[in-house]
Amino acid sequence: MTEKSQSNTKNILSLNSIEVVYDSVIVAVRGISLQVPRGGIVALLGANGAGKSTTLKSVSGLLAPERGKITRGHIEFDGEPIRDAAPDSRVGLGICHVIEGRRVFEHLTPDENLEAAAPMKLSRAEVNRERDRIYDYFPRIAQRRKSKAGYLSGGEQQMLAIGRALMTRPKLLMLDEPSLGLAPLLVAEIFGIIQRINRENGLSVLLVEQNAMAALEVVSHGYLIEQGRIVMHDTAQALKENSDIQEFYLGGGQAKNFHEIKHYRRRKRWLS
Ligand code: ATP
Repeated sequence: MTEKSQSNTKNILSLNSIEVVYDSVIVAVRGISLQVPRGGIVALLGANGAGKSTTLKSVSGLLAPERGKITRGHIEFDGEPIRDAAPDSRVGLGICHVIEGRRVFEHLTPDENLEAAAPMKLSRAEVNRERDRIYDYFPRIAQRRKSKAGYLSGGEQQMLAIGRALMTRPKLLMLDEPSLGLAPLLVAEIFGIIQRINRENGLSVLLVEQNAMAALEVVSHGYLIEQGRIVMHDTAQALKENSDIQEFYLGGGQAKNFHEIKHYRRRKRWLS
């Protein structure tokens, strides 16, 4: 087996030196490389504007509507190059991207939301089976299955948005800040469900979060992105123990941004 095919077997997703530019001038992502192991859960952590969402969009193919373009590097999914593939063909390959902001059809019920997300090729019986499978993971949503989604709480809408993604039976689920605006207990509940789905179905997950504390409890590895560059990559345990991460992301420090801390700057220079 060649080195390349070995890496394909091990990693479902591999980004190599990806650069993304918006409007031909704004460089949002500056040559990042990251891997998601098959069946693994990996976090991409970073502050506002660091380039997390842009990275996910480069994988799902959602850059074009925002005048964004991959200008360098390559992306492999499940052993196939996908950098120039159309977004719908990426969904067909098994990539599902739950974008930030828990988008659901508010005027439809959860039943209808899940049905609308099912692939066209499924029969009615298969759609019902898939829907029951989702409700098994999200019993809260099952209880509200006939109410309008617009009346669900923020956490329930997030669960429904994830449920809609799961209706496509993806191989890789990319979640953009699922914890945003949710109470800590609810975040723990949602992350616990994601972990269960990962364990029971072998679903690979790439989790984008500013809430490093919660994310590092469920992932095996994490990448820290800052100003479009990966500045740290390690196991979740090592990241939790890292003093810089503790200072900025785990509630240990007062600083609102990294630039206020000199030693972080020094470390960052050393790492990059
Ligand atoms: P957040 O947590 O705030 O969503 P992020 O880490 O996901 O932040 P991105 O949304 O990827 O960051 O943004 C990275 C950089 O690219 C930022 O400087 C942002 O202003 C810029 N950017 C993002 N989208 C666009 C766009 N459509 N057009 C121009 N610049 C953009």
